[in-house]
Amino acid sequence: MITLKNAAQLAAMRAAGAALYEVLQGLRERVVPGVTTLALNRWAEEAIRARGAIPSFLGYEGFPASLCTSVDDVVVHGIPSERQAVQEGSLLSLDCGLVLDGWQADSALTVGVGEISPEKERLMRVTEACFFAGARQAVRGHTLGDIGHAVQTLAERCGYGVIRDLTGHGIGREMHEEPAVYNFGLPGHGMRLLPGMTLAIEPMIAMGDWHVDEDDDGWGVRTRDRRPASHYEHTLAIGENGLPELLTLPGYSWKEREDGTDPL
Ligand code: MG
Ligand code: MG
Repeated sequence: MITLKNAAQLAAMRAAGAALYEVLQGLRERVVPGVTTLALNRWAEEAIRARGAIPSFLGYEGFPASLCTSVDDVVVHGIPSERQAVQEGSLLSLDCGLVLDGWQADSALTVGVGEISPEKERLMRVTEACFFAGARQAVRGHTLGDIGHAVQTLAERCGYGVIRDLTGHGIGREMHEEPAVYNFGLPGHGMRLLPGMTLAIEPMIAMGDWHVDEDDDGWGVRTRDRRPASHYEHTLAIGENGLPELLTLPGYSWKEREDGTDPL
């Protein structure tokens, strides 16, 4: 079922999104060579609870942590571990979610640990750009296929693979609601977008081929060719008019991006 949110519900989701933004910014600052992914998870859980929110990943289908930490060839769903200290030159995806007053927020970003290669830097930047290319299609009257097509076109133009096995999703009272938001597709195809829809758009982009394997722990999803991947996600709301509001990136201005002054 697709749920459309009214103004009061969107205000609640905006508050949840702002809290999650703060958590992810705090995490980003704590990514230094040698930090363990378990230490990042502990900090995330405390930061979520300090904001009066609940970690939505913890216990979700049995997931044992509040944060997914996915290093290099792990695309998503890496489990934090005290045995895993992140290494200079790695890519680390941080995916986090929380519930505040009954409303969900879900967001992910990828950071370089210390100095990273130009190839990894480009993959990270293009993945972010793929998100914005897809998100700018999330307007009333467009379709889910328009979003997927925009993500896929940019990724493939840059020579990268689009992970097919995982998708974005609707979000609201539940972390994962309908519809599935594919990162590939055909313009004009799929469900038509309506004001009040809230979606998590999350390109997962591979430097090489898009096929993936699941780790033995039943969670980690890894590129089959073991080349690096990157992940970037925001929760957004489709409005009556114009471009979507990025709920997990408070104060974001599309105009800045169009002017070429966007820091991303
Ligand atoms: Mg996420
Ligand atoms: Mg998500």
